[in-house]
Amino acid sequence: MGGAVHVRREKNGKVQPCHARRNAQTCPHGQHMSCTDRHHADDLRLGEPLCPDCYDYDGSVLFNAISPELWRRFTLALRRRFARLNGLTVKALREQVTIAFAKVAEYQRRGVVHFHAVIRLDGPNGPNSPPPAWATADALADAVQHAAAAVTAEIKPLSRTFRWGIQLDVRRITMNGDLTEQAVAAYIAKYATKAAECVGTLDRRIQPLDNLDALPVRDHARRLIAACMRLGEDADLADLRLTHWAHMLGFRGHFSTKSRSYSTTLGELWAARERFVHTEEVTHGRLPLFDEDTILVVTHWQYAGQGQSAGDALLAAAITGTSSGGHP
Ligand SMILES: [Zn+2]
Ligand SMILES: [Zn+2]
Repeated sequence: MGGAVHVRREKNGKVQPCHARRNAQTCPHGQHMSCTDRHHADDLRLGEPLCPDCYDYDGSVLFNAISPELWRRFTLALRRRFARLNGLTVKALREQVTIAFAKVAEYQRRGVVHFHAVIRLDGPNGPNSPPPAWATADALADAVQHAAAAVTAEIKPLSRTFRWGIQLDVRRITMNGDLTEQAVAAYIAKYATKAAECVGTLDRRIQPLDNLDALPVRDHARRLIAACMRLGEDADLADLRLTHWAHMLGFRGHFSTKSRSYSTTLGELWAARERFVHTEEVTHGRLPLFDEDTILVVTHWQYAGQGQSAGDALLAAAITGTSSGGHP
């Protein structure tokens, strides 16, 4: 989805050239589709397209808008697969196993969300009952891989189909207590190593009369917002509420670079991480950070290390998005 963006890649601790292409093409807008820079981590061009005029801005915001549906279908497909792997119907599975999900959405620099999820197996009565012995983390991992590859969500009026990207990272983790958003936040706090960086959008709704040219954002964010506003005019896409969520680049979640709630939230997150570093008590704690139905949006975090497997059938999955069909 989208098109080539400036990236920072490291190999054996050395920063690699961004897009070094021998025989690089020149795009229809006269842009040489190559970049040999070794970008610094603070380079503002990171995540921005090599050619903005080639970049699929519509696809980016449409993916953000459809991603909650794609997620919902993913959870259904995962249950179906997990049931089949164990020779059960979905209904029979439910009588023996609870599969619980919690997720956070994260903006990549290019302004497309991806999800980090914690998926947990319990017995039929939830966290107070152990899962049956056959309900293993390996089978769950198989179901995650299968479901992530299988599900699609279509935006019919535009004949565009969206699916998860090929980047899927599944690992076992250990987490005690209920799988609440708070617990997931604690998990993230445990693994997040990098301060949140903002995609550079606004922390307020865009109004129809706003002059987009005057918004204090970089051109990449401006184009994403403009795509939302333009597609939002399409009555066939009304369900996606793209105008309403233009400041979120199409995604329906909480995101703010400046508001008190956001800074409090992230402040708590980092404080939690600090506490974890010192006492490791966060994995057991329930941080009063979020409402149950809040999708926490952070703009950047990464794993500091791998969780220890302690027999808990618990997985963390990170999945990214892509699209196919319809426009390029
Ligand atoms: Zn570059
Ligand atoms: Zn171009």
